[in-house]
Amino acid sequence: LPKVLVYQDGMNAQDLGKLLHREPAEIVKKLFMLGMMVNQNQSLDKDAIELLATDYGIEAKEKENVNVSDIDKFFNEEEHNTDYQESRPPVVTIMGHVDHGKTTLLDYLRHSHITAGEAGGITQAIGAYQLKHGDQTITFLDTPGHAAFTAMRARGADITDVTVLVVAADDGVMPQTVEAIDHAKAAGTPIIVAVNKIDKPNANPQHVKEHLMNYGLVPEDFGGDTIFVDISAKNGTNVDELLNMILLQSEVLELKANPKQNGAGSVVEARLDKGKGPVATLLVQQGTLHVGDPIVVGDTFGRVRTMTNENGKDIKDAKPSTPVEITGLNDVPEAGDRFIVFNNEKTARAAGEERAKESQIEERKQNNRVTLDNLFDSM
Ligand code: GDP
Ligand code: MG
Repeated sequence: LPKVLVYQDGMNAQDLGKLLHREPAEIVKKLFMLGMMVNQNQSLDKDAIELLATDYGIEAKEKENVNVSDIDKFFNEEEHNTDYQESRPPVVTIMGHVDHGKTTLLDYLRHSHITAGEAGGITQAIGAYQLKHGDQTITFLDTPGHAAFTAMRARGADITDVTVLVVAADDGVMPQTVEAIDHAKAAGTPIIVAVNKIDKPNANPQHVKEHLMNYGLVPEDFGGDTIFVDISAKNGTNVDELLNMILLQSEVLELKANPKQNGAGSVVEARLDKGKGPVATLLVQQGTLHVGDPIVVGDTFGRVRTMTNENGKDIKDAKPSTPVEITGLNDVPEAGDRFIVFNNEKTARAAGEERAKESQIEERKQNNRVTLDNLFDSM
């Protein structure tokens, strides 16, 4: 037995069993003797937990409650525990003008870098995947165009470490190329330029380089520090070199995270599945996410019921920079929403509900606000 039981309001017999090094069944039995009929999963209030501790002859102390605003604090103030850090894979977004070859590049990467064991195992495409290059891992976000990226950024989720800007060598710099540069700059990520379609007879990579200098992307051979790689996403030409450059650029960034804490990160995409209910692709950014974790995601909450990787394979835990698809939420979150793991389901639920309420109120404020203008309009 520990000397002190540091509990949280709402813990159940299983949680308490772990803390007290006792079987949950014993906890249930003890509670029964104390006049409380509960099962192992039912959450208990403070009084019940304190009574239980007294019965074991130890002191009970309530752990400070996780506040609802902690999700934002966690990210904004970098409150996460940085005592311990491990390096993590870079998270890369591929952007560029329509038809310049983003999807072709992502597909080429996905298919050329799957390990033998996974071959044929690509059953579904989630909004992100990881691949191995040499002994290193790179996470690619498969964001459907700029809209999702913009939505994420609007919600404060800068989840990209490196932007790969795809520019077709036969088409040159186009409006969405410039837009992508602006996004990457606003997000503060370094840009690597992949000059694509160099297999085409009318390809003019030199022209792309010269044109991009107008936007502050100066290649190394012109005295700047932007990495350019000429590729053919269709044939795979120089794609490995592009991966080398991504890793080189990432090394400079010294990307680190602490996997030894509660999981936290962002929603890449989410949908409602007829059979599975709400399904969300999450990118873990801090800590480790486990199956069974009580979790708050944006305005919704739940417990991670299933967790799969990009190949649809069940996994038990996910470390920083790992994209996973999870089920178990009670509602569909939005791309860019933050998630964080709570220590128990009751606090997760309370925080989730509180956040939902807050955003409802906020929405109402935006939409139905009585201002002097509309007050007089309706009179
Ligand atoms: P996205 O809109 O940026 O996702 O562009 P896509 O990947 O859909 O590519 C648009 C078109 O360009 C498709 O017909 C591709 O087959 C073609 N394409 C993409 N990369 C290359 C390349 O390296 N060489 C050639 N010749 N065609 C390419
Ligand atoms: Mg595409």
